[in-house]
Amino acid sequence: MNETSLIVRNIGQLLTMNGDGPAHAFAVLEHAAMVVERGIVAWIGSDQNLPVDAEGMELDVEGALVSPGLVDAHTHLLYAGDRSYEVRLRAEGRSYLEILEAGGGILSTVEKTRNATDEALLHATRRRLSHALLAGTTTLEIKTGYDLTAIGELRALALIQRLAEEGPWHVVPTALAAHAVPPEFEGRPGAYLAYLAEEYLPQVKGLAEVVDIFCEPGVFSVEESRAYLNQARALGLRIKLHVDELADGGGGALASELGADSADHCAFTSVEAFRAMARSGVVAVILPGTARYLNHGHMANARAMLDAGGWVAIGSDGNPGSSPTDSLSALMPWAASWLSLTPEQVWTSVTRGGAEALRATAAGRLKVGQPADFVIWDADHYFYPTYYYGTNLVREVFVAGQRVAVNHSAVL
Ligand SMILES: [Zn+2]
Repeated sequence: MNETSLIVRNIGQLLTMNGDGPAHAFAVLEHAAMVVERGIVAWIGSDQNLPVDAEGMELDVEGALVSPGLVDAHTHLLYAGDRSYEVRLRAEGRSYLEILEAGGGILSTVEKTRNATDEALLHATRRRLSHALLAGTTTLEIKTGYDLTAIGELRALALIQRLAEEGPWHVVPTALAAHAVPPEFEGRPGAYLAYLAEEYLPQVKGLAEVVDIFCEPGVFSVEESRAYLNQARALGLRIKLHVDELADGGGGALASELGADSADHCAFTSVEAFRAMARSGVVAVILPGTARYLNHGHMANARAMLDAGGWVAIGSDGNPGSSPTDSLSALMPWAASWLSLTPEQVWTSVTRGGAEALRATAAGRLKVGQPADFVIWDADHYFYPTYYYGTNLVREVFVAGQRVAVNHSAVL
């Protein structure tokens, strides 16, 4: 018997997600089997057609649903501390500004992150990555953005790279020093970006391939964002943007003008801007949990992007303030409900859509010759994880054919 081989048998439904393009990526095989050799998918087909010479450890999943590992294209999971005390402040009706004045908000996370040791940050982030794995995410982006000094932001990138090397998760780092204006540059966003262009951007290459900016009225303007992203691009870096979270500030249009990898949030992006993004190959990364968590309630028009033929990715936006979670699968029923997406569209958005946003196109699908990252669900139909909320339906998670997470059953 070949110990590096695995035969997954008796799969009720196998989501391969191997179709072409956003509208047709979703693909499912009934009564399937999958052979994995040395971490790579070697064969996929009907269980009854399993090659007679297939060798390896046999895993009978008893009719369960199997999907690719989920791809979370937008997280901020490297930070110190938490902001759970803000729950009480919000319940008391305190405004965002009052919470800031009470020592809360993003700047409190910045202070804790600046003061945290490397080991403390790695430990906290590893825990979040473990939770993400247990919820079925095998590939995820982690942005920096809670230090807001050149040297601290480069340290954060180096730490994310260390976590990426540790695995078993696949981590994609993103350089988001332009996340907010730090206290040292209060009221001078342009001066902060000029400082970053001088002392930070030239050192990003090798630590990350993509640069991000929070392009929003009152934070960094469209003009400031355009100049900064062009400077990043001149250094051989790719670009993406946080846009239109609180108002249509023209960020979606800027993303299409610049041909960014993705435009993220898009809560107020217009239909015209979505069409332009789809034409330019910009992925719309939609973060439905964030709008609901802060009780804004304004949802991105994901359907407009799909109607325009573009890729949509759903992200967790895992962060300590507006979306404290590491679970993308927890959002699947809510993405269906709040964004009016079909089960097939939700699955596409948490697999292939995420992979397109990260330009990690081997992820989010199960294909012969590609890595065997997959999830066995406590469900026998793919509708179920887009319907049943609040219970982690992930049974087991595999990365490169290795079992990396198991959710234990209750003792009955
Ligand atoms: Zn974000």
